[in-house]
Amino acid sequence: MNELRYADEVKQSSAYRSIAADIERGELSHAYFIRSEDKDAVETLFTLIAMRVYCDTACGKCAECRKVLLRSKPDVKYLAEGTENFTVAEMAEVTEDAGMTAFEGGEKLYFFLNFENLAEPPQNKFLKTLEEPFDKVHFFLSAASTATVLPTILSRVKQVVFPAFSEQSVRDALVKSGVPVENAERGARLSQGSLTRGREYATDEDFLRHISEVTDLLVGLKGSADVYRYVRDGIFAKERIGRTLSIFESVFHSVMSAHLGLAIPLEEAKERINEIASMYTVAAVGEANDVILTCRARLKSNCNATNVADYLLLKLTEVKYKCRSSLA
Ligand SMILES: [Zn+2]
Repeated sequence: MNELRYADEVKQSSAYRSIAADIERGELSHAYFIRSEDKDAVETLFTLIAMRVYCDTACGKCAECRKVLLRSKPDVKYLAEGTENFTVAEMAEVTEDAGMTAFEGGEKLYFFLNFENLAEPPQNKFLKTLEEPFDKVHFFLSAASTATVLPTILSRVKQVVFPAFSEQSVRDALVKSGVPVENAERGARLSQGSLTRGREYATDEDFLRHISEVTDLLVGLKGSADVYRYVRDGIFAKERIGRTLSIFESVFHSVMSAHLGLAIPLEEAKERINEIASMYTVAAVGEANDVILTCRARLKSNCNATNVADYLLLKLTEVKYKCRSSLA
């Protein structure tokens, strides 16, 4: 890993600049919390912060920055990177580790990705560490939402907002990371300000087919009697349903744009989007988004893919009907 992807764009963000300013003033907090769904951006932010702690300009080229980039600095640790749960025993190790002298005598940094996946017991264990901070030890937590984070933890960390990137920034970031311009433009249009989402859309080979499968379904889904026809569709297979939910989100985002008279991000499917807009009112689109969020939560708690699909389709027919009749 020679180049840090998205470094320019993330360095411009207020999240990076506010933490860099704390470092500059010698006031780096004991613990930070960064709320963002944009995992790629958070990953780059964490690397940049680590570089900045040991190098005044986070230049990316000096020996210290190289060590951070190669993840060979013994005093910088990345935790809970996978999606599996972090255990109390692992958290106890972190606390013990934090209490030990730094290998290189300077700051010790711990970066928690996906903090939302931590269960309550390891979070409680971590709380003890926050209550009795060690000198020169800094924690950086990130999570897609604060919903599953203990309020007692949130009250002891400095919260940092990571704002959405502009479409242009996402486009430029993707192009610089090697994505062909045309794909980067499509990714940026659909990114809703997220580098992670932008990349997903820019690199999805199956994209056009997947979009038409979802839009065809929405046009064809007239009532609950149609649900059985679609529920066993390939797009709801265990390995595809996560991606399919993202496509549903993007389709409804475009439908909302159509209602508001804005440019339609999914311009590849413009006609279908307008057709769907005539079936789903603004209120229905709002409710559909909530339904999709619930589906994501259910998938995360290991609900069976077919049950999630069944719930999604039934609820969609319901919100469409309900919101229509309330308008009439
Ligand atoms: Zn450097």
